[in-house]
Amino acid sequence: MPELAEVELARRLWEPAVGDTITAVDCHPKTRVFRDCPAATLRKLLPGTQLIATRAHGKRLLFTFSSATEHFLHLELHLGMAGRLYTAPPDHLAEKHDHFLLRTPNHTFAYNDYRQFGGVKLHREADPWAALPPQVLDRKFSLAYLTALLDRRPRVALKALLLDQSAFPGVGNWMADEICWRLNAHPSTPVGRLDPADLRKSSQFVCRGAIRHVADKNFALSSTRTEAFAPGSYVHLVPPPSWLFQHRWKPGGSCPRCNKSLARATIAGRTTAWCPICQTIHGNSGT
Ligand SMILES: [Zn+2]
Repeated sequence: MPELAEVELARRLWEPAVGDTITAVDCHPKTRVFRDCPAATLRKLLPGTQLIATRAHGKRLLFTFSSATEHFLHLELHLGMAGRLYTAPPDHLAEKHDHFLLRTPNHTFAYNDYRQFGGVKLHREADPWAALPPQVLDRKFSLAYLTALLDRRPRVALKALLLDQSAFPGVGNWMADEICWRLNAHPSTPVGRLDPADLRKSSQFVCRGAIRHVADKNFALSSTRTEAFAPGSYVHLVPPPSWLFQHRWKPGGSCPRCNKSLARATIAGRTTAWCPICQTIHGNSGT
């Protein structure tokens, strides 16, 4: 499932559309991605509008349009399990799993999703995201904010809290494992035993690094290898071998810090990898 860095990469791939007028909208009408918003509504409202802003929050994307008929018009995309955005020439023919194409005079902006767990919604209020929680890299994600969040649920397992999109928006399975590993904390550690300052520092490091290694570097690559960004290929560059990321699913994968074999189990409903030497349950000596 795309996590915050892949979502940010997707946002940047559609960013060249800002300032463009939408000349046509092509939708695959039978796809499930339109379950919350009929394709006919998009085809009626979007042509003639101008894209004026793009935003990413956690695993969601928001595209804001100026319209002659609507006070406010936003298109929200959720990439689901396998959704991808890409940019193609204006005469691009829809690929098999392209469900939604925005045409402008110079480009086609495509939304591709072969599993169709993603979705599209239209919003007509001023700021549909006004009530969303702060993201890890936002100024509002302060030490006081995080301390209060941990105090409310001290017994919840670290991995479960990291996967909670109302607490750590955009953090998914691999980023949660990476944060636990950098904290030297077992994923089952009750969060009340953690130092909020350490958790904030590790989560900021991982979110910042994920943006740099996944969004920044792949976006730079997209400008030189546009063919690499066709549907089915997307993230080519990943975090370096000094991160847990590259070792967590390898058969016999070992900890990049101590070189001991990684452990795996289902924690908080997700397959989890950790180092049994480096990551202990805080407060339980010897475990
Ligand atoms: Zn280790």
